[in-house]
Amino acid sequence: MAYRYWCGECSFKTSWGTESQGQKEHLEHYTVHHTGLVPGGQVETNRKDPDGGGSCLAFIALAVLLVFLAASCHH
Ligand SMILES: [Zn+2]
Repeated sequence: MAYRYWCGECSFKTSWGTESQGQKEHLEHYTVHHTGLVPGGQVETNRKDPDGGGSCLAFIALAVLLVFLAASCHH
């Protein structure tokens, strides 16, 4: 699950990431751009996780390839 936090004061949106990453980025944005205001806005969630899903699959494919290479070396 990916999270994206929307600023309640302007059109700023954090990048997609984990819940804690988004909260941190959102808080940093308020500290810099809306000093003294309580962080507001809304949270957008994405079950497909567009950033994490693809790279994870590529990593599994690479790991499988390495296992095959390692196995063929021992023969
Ligand atoms: Zn803002």
